[in-house]
Amino acid sequence: MNISLKISALLLFVLSTISCSNKNQVFEAENSINSKDLEKHIVTLSSDEFQGRKPFTIGEKRATKYIANAFKEIGLESGYNGSYFQNVPAVELNYTPDKSISIQTKNGELTLELTKDYIAKTPHIKDSITIKNAEIVFAGYGIVAPEYGWNDYKDIDVKDKIVLVQVNDPGFATQNESLFRGNAMTYYGRWAYKYEEAARQGAKGILVIHSTKAAGYGWQVLTNTSGFGISIQAKDQNLQKCALEGWITDAAAQKLFEKSGLNYDELLKNAENSNFNALSLNCNLNLTIKTALKFQNSKNVVGIIKGTKRPEECIVYSAHWDHFGIGPAQNGDSIYNGAMDNGTALAAMLETAKAFTNLKIKPERSVVFIAVTAEETGFIGSKYYAQNGLFSPEKTIANLNYELLLPMGKMKDVTITGFGQSELDSYVEAAAKEQDRYIIEEPFPENGMYYRSDHFSFAQIGIPSLFIKGWQDSREHGKEWAKEQINTYWKTAYHKPADEYIPETSDLSGIIEDAKLFFKIGYKLANEANYPNWNEKSEFRSIREKSMQHN
Ligand SMILES: [Zn+2]
Repeated sequence: MNISLKISALLLFVLSTISCSNKNQVFEAENSINSKDLEKHIVTLSSDEFQGRKPFTIGEKRATKYIANAFKEIGLESGYNGSYFQNVPAVELNYTPDKSISIQTKNGELTLELTKDYIAKTPHIKDSITIKNAEIVFAGYGIVAPEYGWNDYKDIDVKDKIVLVQVNDPGFATQNESLFRGNAMTYYGRWAYKYEEAARQGAKGILVIHSTKAAGYGWQVLTNTSGFGISIQAKDQNLQKCALEGWITDAAAQKLFEKSGLNYDELLKNAENSNFNALSLNCNLNLTIKTALKFQNSKNVVGIIKGTKRPEECIVYSAHWDHFGIGPAQNGDSIYNGAMDNGTALAAMLETAKAFTNLKIKPERSVVFIAVTAEETGFIGSKYYAQNGLFSPEKTIANLNYELLLPMGKMKDVTITGFGQSELDSYVEAAAKEQDRYIIEEPFPENGMYYRSDHFSFAQIGIPSLFIKGWQDSREHGKEWAKEQINTYWKTAYHKPADEYIPETSDLSGIIEDAKLFFKIGYKLANEANYPNWNEKSEFRSIREKSMQHN
């Protein structure tokens, strides 16, 4: 062997040991994720002692302290001068709306009862709001979407009126693939959008007509949580928003149209066309909502690992810590433990964080772990962090969000909610392959889940965001079985006191795999220089591009 050959052989050997030892250290770090630690977190976070983790309560204190301690033990650095807590200046709003409302219609008075027929909230940070003789206008889907050639508010002035709108969007109603996104819900289908649009139009209030099919959840999901809200302490007291934000049942809407001498079914059909014209029901609504206000801080819990090469850039992992606290008893139980929503997910995030701190070679970009407050009441914590983050949005490469993981064992699939939104899908695919899994779209894109958890707060400011989990194809029992598990969860436990952790019937192996998957994806993102973007058709791409120009 001559000298140059010897040198190249030596070089090859050195290089291969480096890459091999790097692979080993990543492998070892990933395998520190284990079910014993995971289970301990789930059991503690969902215990009765934590009282359902409602913001501002002793449950918040206990949960956030536990998470901060776990961050410390894992070895994450604190985000705020030695503290893991980001204060979220918030206000709790406890509502007492009129027990019943009477609406004067063309054909006499119609009385609607609170909870049974309607629910009413106000975002206004005031002691009370009063709606007096406000005219009701049916505004179809309440959508203004120039890119789809759609405007439900054309040729009508709804200033100081109450708009009545349908949930979801015309694409879902017609199942026409060329209308909006067909069956898949767009942001226009979400009540949050409809509230925003009604306010932009100057309406005094908005009532969304509920149907289980179009909303994706039952009436009870709304009534369980209708008594209170949480808001960030807004400078304008939220007065730009509608004074009334409420819902009425499909049946109540039907009665209201009948009493107004209008054909409900026919009008709903008409609203599926872009040439639909909003119309007055020629009836008036009176309603008062008294609000007890409580100004107080809630907390996000934030831990970080500083990047070695590009510390100013970061990947953000998120999971909400809050749930509904103590509420109406069901089957003698009044603690809404939120074991799956979101105990399992929080626990998985803690395990992913542990894997990162176990890396011998630290990541090149910074990695942020954030347990956010008040997701259940409108993504308050993640919204606040998105506006007041440790890193600027254009230096935040991606958000990976954990939400509602079910302990049903190993899954063959990785379900991507918001499939096709961004280039992050290919990162998921590569990581899934390593686990012999495949990627697949969410089963019910019509439910608009992509707009229903904390990653959406990041998406809204342009940061590519992922919401993923094993969900549809059990390795052991197949697809039908998985579907049954999920349906049972929706029916018996979702947002109910029965959302509890039962060790005997739980198999954590799938959540372990998901935590590892989150690690793999974040590890790759944290060690490259690439900026994955939103795809061409995504409604968030232009926001990202604008924010990157500021860079
Ligand atoms: Zn949740």
